Amino acid sequence: MESEVPSLEEISLIWLTGAGCNGCTLAMLEASEPGIEDLLFGNVPDAPRVTLIHPELAMESGAHYLAGLERAVSGTLAPFVLVLEGAIPEERPDGEGLFFKMGSTPDGKPIPISNWIERLASKAEAVLAMGSCATWGGLPAAEGSPLRVRGLGEFLGHDYRSRGGLPVVNIPGCAPPGEAFIETLIYVFLHLGRLVPLDLDEEGRPRWLYRHDTYPLPPRVEYPPAIGFDLSNRPTVKCPVPITGWMRNYGGCAKVGGSCIGCTDRDFVDRYLALARPDPAFN
Ligand code: SF4
Repeated sequence: MESEVPSLEEISLIWLTGAGCNGCTLAMLEASEPGIEDLLFGNVPDAPRVTLIHPELAMESGAHYLAGLERAVSGTLAPFVLVLEGAIPEERPDGEGLFFKMGSTPDGKPIPISNWIERLASKAEAVLAMGSCATWGGLPAAEGSPLRVRGLGEFLGHDYRSRGGLPVVNIPGCAPPGEAFIETLIYVFLHLGRLVPLDLDEEGRPRWLYRHDTYPLPPRVEYPPAIGFDLSNRPTVKCPVPITGWMRNYGGCAKVGGSCIGCTDRDFVDRYLALARPDPAFN
């Protein structure tokens, strides 16, 4: 059912963490113009003031922190947007392999992060997968990994729609630029406020950001491709970094001659990392 949110003045942002490295949190904190603090202070025109509920950044801890999540589950904390960083392991609470948990039930059983996602996703106005682990499984899903992980879209199912009528919004990258996240989040807010439509591509990514080609390349290769560097047989992936850089249009692997590992694409570890290793033919 679509929610009725005629004008969004305040909204909570609930951030959960699965199997990952917290690099997406760092990327989010690095964003500027606007940054997350501009949203927290309500300084972004037409965007609501945001209350961030983040497991590592919260002032509250333990039961006080979990109470906020329970209020969201029960519907007393609304509206909210759910963000996942990291992949979702297949938890087996009764056997081996309980990897990511937060809080415990009254009888003392740990609550897997997958349980929180299930309960919160049905109440969220929108659900965002931040980074390639949350989007496709990323590094924890690489061949040989003992973790049986899934990305958020696979976990919630392709028919999933948030209360705001949106599928899972994917922002892949390892990590993606924080500004890509903040920009997408603002567009999600504007969409929920019925101010602009949210334009997602067939992979659930913001189409205007993930439309630039980049090539998995070894390090120290000039970008755009140097003259004489035959890219015809190399795959391309879609990524905002070649155009937007990392922050304020500066930095970013594909802009500074760094190695592109194709990190925005599915199964990038297995498919592209070998391409990003130095190749004697190009030295
Ligand atoms: Fe990932 Fe390549 Fe984009 Fe860098 S340029 S963020 S390695 S896809």
